[in-house]
Amino acid sequence: MENVRLRVAIVGCGIGGLTLATTISKLTAEEQSPNGIVQVDLYESKSQVSVIGAGVGIWKRSWQVLQDLGFEEELLKRGIKVPVDGESRGPIFRKSDQPTPGYDFHDHIMPYGPLGLHRPTLLEILQSKLSKNCTIHTSKALVDYTVNTEDDRSTITLHFADNTTAETDVLVGADGVYSVTRQTMFHGLAKETGDDDYTRYARARFSGTLAYRGPVPSDKLGEKHPGHMALKRMRAWCGKNQHVITHPLGPYIGVIVYKYHPDYPHTTQTVIPSSREEMLALCEGWEPELLEVLECVDSEPSKVSCWIIHTVDPLPFYAVGNVALIGDAAHAMLPHQAVGGGQAIEDAHLLGRLLAHPKATIGTSSKPSTIPAILKLYETHRLPASQQAAKASYENGLMYAFNYPGYVYGGGPSSDTSGQEDANGRSPTLEELKMLGRRIGESFAWLKECDVEEDWGKAEVELEKM
Ligand SMILES: Cc1cc2nc3c(=O)[nH]c(=O)nc-3n(C[C@H](O)[C@H](O)[C@H](O)COP(=O)(O)OP(=O)(O)OC[C@H]3O[C@@H](n4cnc5c(N)ncnc54)[C@H](O)[C@@H]3O)c2cc1C
Repeated sequence: MENVRLRVAIVGCGIGGLTLATTISKLTAEEQSPNGIVQVDLYESKSQVSVIGAGVGIWKRSWQVLQDLGFEEELLKRGIKVPVDGESRGPIFRKSDQPTPGYDFHDHIMPYGPLGLHRPTLLEILQSKLSKNCTIHTSKALVDYTVNTEDDRSTITLHFADNTTAETDVLVGADGVYSVTRQTMFHGLAKETGDDDYTRYARARFSGTLAYRGPVPSDKLGEKHPGHMALKRMRAWCGKNQHVITHPLGPYIGVIVYKYHPDYPHTTQTVIPSSREEMLALCEGWEPELLEVLECVDSEPSKVSCWIIHTVDPLPFYAVGNVALIGDAAHAMLPHQAVGGGQAIEDAHLLGRLLAHPKATIGTSSKPSTIPAILKLYETHRLPASQQAAKASYENGLMYAFNYPGYVYGGGPSSDTSGQEDANGRSPTLEELKMLGRRIGESFAWLKECDVEEDWGKAEVELEKM
């Protein structure tokens, strides 16, 4: 390619990597960029761009990003509703960990009508918006990278599993929770500084949570149990140390049993096969209405799996020199606020706007590179927000499994219990559960806050000073 002013390599073609490439594409299409183009190369380890998982929760801020990238028109064209700007009904929370019928304790009103966007649709639209300056290279698994400090441009060499290499000016690790980019960055820092503490940021950590997923055909449940509550509204079936989410999605109900199991032995694996029987066994002794749902889980073995959820410790930074991390590579979190994908989208959009800006230039003999400062600017704006989202997701997991300090079994702030950690035999009172419900409601309040434009405005002021 001619007239290239900056080469950006993105490792990982997931939600984050593709949103970044699409943002740069939108802002630097050749005809709009007299200063030269930004060349983007995406490297994906799989043989094709694909995703697992059903939906991504699109809240207010991530919707602003997608609107900016032209999604409103694309979704309407496909007959998909766009999010409603206003309150919507979320799950009904219910106490379920007893063999007698359970009861509702919180009817969750979402502060904003999130859209559950089908992941393949999201990736397909993002890909359709890539400019001719973006190239996707599949079957390219990064194994590590090296920084070439001796040249003026301070280039980076990427090394792939097939023994090939590629050179770039900026490397963005969008390679998910087990990110090789993050591993190379933090192992490198440990070696360079002699501080072994850095290695803990390299690895993904078992979160203590297992997610057993299996679909329930809606007609099967409807035939066996006409009018069953799981057919009508999303529900969170809560109990000590575990909770179950059921989500009616037309022809089937998505079911996830989240089990808090910190001592689980097989923590190096990511997804393993499971079965309806295993899901039922986990909920033995729970209320009959939940067991009715689980008995209808699709019996085909390939459809039921257990996800061993890993997260990333809060990193001290997201950028070193000309290398940055986005999405799960930077802050893989528990899924209890449905915001991991949205955070990847927000990271990618802000970083894309910064890299597309004419101020983003590589060094020459007369002018130093602005890239390290620009990547730090991205970090300044995105690290606190994304780590706050991770903390909120973690806390929600504690709330749903009655493990949140100061509430339910631990004794609520205004309850008259003695504050014992786990009363086991003692059931929480309805008032205690309602207090927990109010806390759950408050924990989602930030998701109606906007706006990404305001954040960009602040970043742009700092960028202009460079
Ligand atoms: C059970 C569960 C439920 C969830 N539910 C939701 C939800 O409802 N809403 C939501 O917003 N989020 C949810 N999430 C989180 C969401 O899936 C992630 O936050 C999101 O996918 C992160 O996107 P990403 O692009 O950063 O990473 P990923 O989607 O993981 O993409 C990383 C890409 O990098 C590629 N890659 C990896 N290593 C290499 C390498 N060495 N070289 C080249 N390529 C590589 C991978 O193949 C992949 O394509 C959930 C997560 C889990 C586990």
